[in-house]
Amino acid sequence: SNSLPKKRIALFGSTGSIGTQTLDVIANNPDRFTAEVLTAHSNDELLVEQALRFKPNIVVIGDERKYPHVKAALANTDTKVFAGEQALEEVASMDVYDVMLAAIVGFAGLRPTLRAVEQGKAIALANKETLVVAGDIVMQKAVEYRAPIIPVDSEHSAIFQCLVGETRNRIEKVILTASGGPFLGKKPNYLVNVKRDHALQHPNWNMGAKITIDSATLMNKGLEMIEARWLFNLQPDQVSVQVHPQSIIHSMVQFEDGSIKAQMGLPDMKLPIQYALTFPQRLPNNFPRYNFRKPAQLTFEEPDTKTFRNLVLATDALFKGGNLPCVLNAANEIAVFAFLRNRIGFLDMTDLIERTMNQVPWIEKPTLEEYFESDAEARNFAASVIKL
Ligand code: NAD
Ligand code: MG
Repeated sequence: SNSLPKKRIALFGSTGSIGTQTLDVIANNPDRFTAEVLTAHSNDELLVEQALRFKPNIVVIGDERKYPHVKAALANTDTKVFAGEQALEEVASMDVYDVMLAAIVGFAGLRPTLRAVEQGKAIALANKETLVVAGDIVMQKAVEYRAPIIPVDSEHSAIFQCLVGETRNRIEKVILTASGGPFLGKKPNYLVNVKRDHALQHPNWNMGAKITIDSATLMNKGLEMIEARWLFNLQPDQVSVQVHPQSIIHSMVQFEDGSIKAQMGLPDMKLPIQYALTFPQRLPNNFPRYNFRKPAQLTFEEPDTKTFRNLVLATDALFKGGNLPCVLNAANEIAVFAFLRNRIGFLDMTDLIERTMNQVPWIEKPTLEEYFESDAEARNFAASVIKL
């Protein structure tokens, strides 16, 4: 392995939960990887600390007001400093890296990721919203520019791992597992009073705020259904969900002969991150191993779609397609933002998304421009409803 050239990683969203865990993986394997590009939105302190440690070629700070501080702090280094949204796209287009690890959260990740695809770069994709919003266009461009897209999302990494060696075999369906989140088993009369801090406690995973709320509302699983459809070229009815509270089975594939393959392990995002960076190889590590006595039982149940209606809305978007998943995603980003600021209640998030989906005109086969317009229209409508 020492003879292999080092992979140069462009880590978009380096200060987040996925970003920092990716840097752990890079730090554990200095002979395999270098952090060539690091980007952050507003956490300039952490970005500087990361840059001093990993000595990247380039850093980008999204918030331009933070540029002077980052520039000054890195003045005595070889790291180039850029700022602003446009710089994210420009750097994504530069031929200075081998793999983009796309770990920006939300719609903001779409444009830089598309640029990387258009450069034919390999994409290790954590940013599921990119495929939810414009999955058809992203996957089509990935084929056109021969840009491999390797999933980082644990469920999709599990499916991807189950598909190794199965290229000629048809998938009957995929079974995404869902932990159920912190409110598994709860009913609307309980959820109506749930507050931000409570919803931010996830039983099995430690993640960024947005995805943690999405996990509590089950929107995360809905987004993942749409993500799976595009990643694995499935029909909507080939994507199913099973609640599996222990999060040991990360997802499954059922083939035409009825055989089901599952990928298992303790819940730790560093594993799918590492796999996405080394595929088709596996790298040894000393992450904790699953012990079959702890938990000793793996259980499964149907999702409670009467209570967690986001899953119904996302399923509608999955089946109806067009710009509806994009609208669902935009309304959800506004809803989660408002909930995190205690502006709306837990159940109000679903109502807001549903109203927005009914409001924005449906487009069957949107262009990229139309996806951006639908996103903006959905955000404006949702924000106006709750007077943001
Ligand atoms: P996070 O909030 O912890 O980090 C987000 C990162 O994106 C930060 O580095 C931030 O600076 C950057 N960012 C935020 N807004 C931005 C903007 N407008 N422009 C540019 N950069 C911006 O989020 P996370 O939990 O690391 O999740 C990142 C992505 O990975 C999400 O799409 C999420 O759904 C996906 N994902 C996360 C996990 C997890 O365990 N955290 C698991 C699976 C998938
Ligand atoms: Mg996931």
